[in-house]
Amino acid sequence: MFFDVTKIREDFPILNRQIYNRPLVYLDNAASTQKPRQVIDSIRQYYEYDNCNIHRGVHYLSMKATEAYEETRREIREFINAKSTGEIIFTKGATESLNLVASSFGKCYIQPGDEVITTIMEHHSNFVPWQQMCLERGATLRVPGINEQGELDLDELKCLLNEKTRLIAMTHVSNVLGTINPVKEIIALAHQHNIPVLLDGAQGVSHLPVDVQDLDCDFYCFSGHKMYAPMGTGVLYGKEKYLEEMPPYQLGGEMIRDVYIDHTTFNDLPFKFEAGTPNVEGVVGLRAAIHYLNKLGMANIAAYEEQLLVYATEKLSSVGGIRFYGTSAHKASLISFLIGDVHPYDAGMIIDKMGIAVRTGHHCAMPLMNFLKIPGTVRASFAFYNTMEEIDLLVSAILKAKEMLS
Ligand code: PMP
Repeated sequence: MFFDVTKIREDFPILNRQIYNRPLVYLDNAASTQKPRQVIDSIRQYYEYDNCNIHRGVHYLSMKATEAYEETRREIREFINAKSTGEIIFTKGATESLNLVASSFGKCYIQPGDEVITTIMEHHSNFVPWQQMCLERGATLRVPGINEQGELDLDELKCLLNEKTRLIAMTHVSNVLGTINPVKEIIALAHQHNIPVLLDGAQGVSHLPVDVQDLDCDFYCFSGHKMYAPMGTGVLYGKEKYLEEMPPYQLGGEMIRDVYIDHTTFNDLPFKFEAGTPNVEGVVGLRAAIHYLNKLGMANIAAYEEQLLVYATEKLSSVGGIRFYGTSAHKASLISFLIGDVHPYDAGMIIDKMGIAVRTGHHCAMPLMNFLKIPGTVRASFAFYNTMEEIDLLVSAILKAKEMLS
């Protein structure tokens, strides 16, 4: 398929911005993606025509808003190929989805002496909740490392599996290294031991086609804002057999069936996990983002982003003196690097002055930075609206930073 990036870019108004009198080059997509006009318009349309609280009224607007919200749930189910809409829970992002599972799964399934496995390449959102839950419940967190290429040490992971393991909670794609983990293989292995697997899909779902039934993962978590949808939206997918057993995460309206003075009964899935008024306009925007992604096709997106990654890797390699972090053959479209011994913040400041947005720092992955013995990296992360010309501009900015700082 011919990927018409010029046309795609016309859908993203912010990409026309000038920063310091230069055209914006936005390469911080792993932090958050920009929004197409279709998403922005859907929110305006929602507030101008359909705004109302949902699930609460028989009047026209309430039914319209409820329909838009529930239609998005059906489309998300289809997008990730879940079995039923009961398995799709709206949250405010991957962080909330992960906290929900750590808290609720922890209460239900984790006893003193049990073990949970995560990995050294996790974002804090999929590390701290498990660490704290294990501390609270007298369990132990096990953390396998990575090899030179930034790939998970599968032998170490296998050695850590034992009869005390209750869950593996790991990232699908690393936000620092770009590594796409061999999750299907890990899930098959874990299931041989009856161990469920949670995937943090915050960096997966915007780059790769995701089929939760094919992966057979037990939980999958992601954020809307990293997939061209509004901030404050997210999804938790969970297999019904776990979600049915797990206690509610938050209490209040929507999640109840009947409330008495001395006890409460809870609503069915997915509503049991959706207390209070949700971010309806955000979910409406998420639906528009899904339509946008479906129109482009996730396989086409993955193929084009792979071209960007190959081109950027080649160009940056030619600069000399660049240290790369994450060189797996299975990588999503991001590159983490250091320019010689230059501190990432210093490099980031110079690159910024050239109108180029890259991320610098520990990327919310301090255990990984400690493992690598570095303070942070510069990270350029690409989306389908980026171009080869923008990568050339990044390379020029790196050369400039190198010249000024060495
Ligand atoms: N996991 C990964 C791998 C991430 O990259 C991020 C965001 N950087 C998160 C979790 C947390 O996502 P959010 O802040 O949208 O909740």
